[in-house]
Amino acid sequence: MKICALCGDMIQEQDETVEHVPPKLFYPKGLRPTIREPFWTVPSHRACNEKYRMDEEYFYYFLMPLVINENSEMGKVLLDDLRERRKNPQTASMIKWLLSEMKSETPSGIILPPSIRRFSVNQVRVQNVALKIAQCIYFKEHGIFLPKLPCKHCELVERIEDLQPLYRLILEHTQPVSIAPDVFNYRYICVDGMHHFGFMFWAGYMFCLAFDDPEGRKDLIWMRPQ
Ligand SMILES: [Zn+2]
Repeated sequence: MKICALCGDMIQEQDETVEHVPPKLFYPKGLRPTIREPFWTVPSHRACNEKYRMDEEYFYYFLMPLVINENSEMGKVLLDDLRERRKNPQTASMIKWLLSEMKSETPSGIILPPSIRRFSVNQVRVQNVALKIAQCIYFKEHGIFLPKLPCKHCELVERIEDLQPLYRLILEHTQPVSIAPDVFNYRYICVDGMHHFGFMFWAGYMFCLAFDDPEGRKDLIWMRPQ
């Protein structure tokens, strides 16, 4: 019987599905032909998989402005994708809600020019998705469930210059792993029992995460074989 990568429990056959890493939603239709399929997947319960769906949409749409800022070419691809997805009524209502969340003035009451909108991201929702992706990558690498509890660090980094020194070293000295580098790639190493992940989304922003070793191994060192 398989283990669920998201909760660590056994999966009964009738409850089994696959979780895509990263979520399938993250692949804009315009880029699908460039993807070296098969998609990465890990086993999960249907219920665990379903639980993240809304947060994944939130992540994709709410952080899109960061991609548009940093990588205008990819920003255009994502915006085209968004226009296409608007034809789906459920997605359209999500986007409508997103636009209503964007404010035209700053907290101190300054009115922003029409091209600038302020938005505050719900950190819990975006971190929830980043943590889940780390669980999936860990499962993909080791076939073992990674609980969220030992997560010691989860940070959204908009610019490479803002990376903490350790993550900058990882970025410079390890190869990214990906099936579609324009969409998502990851770097992963373990040093002194601390598992470090660097995720790059749409070549626009990064998430850096660190987890204590779930089995408490303090001297564990691991690098993905090249
Ligand atoms: Zn589960």
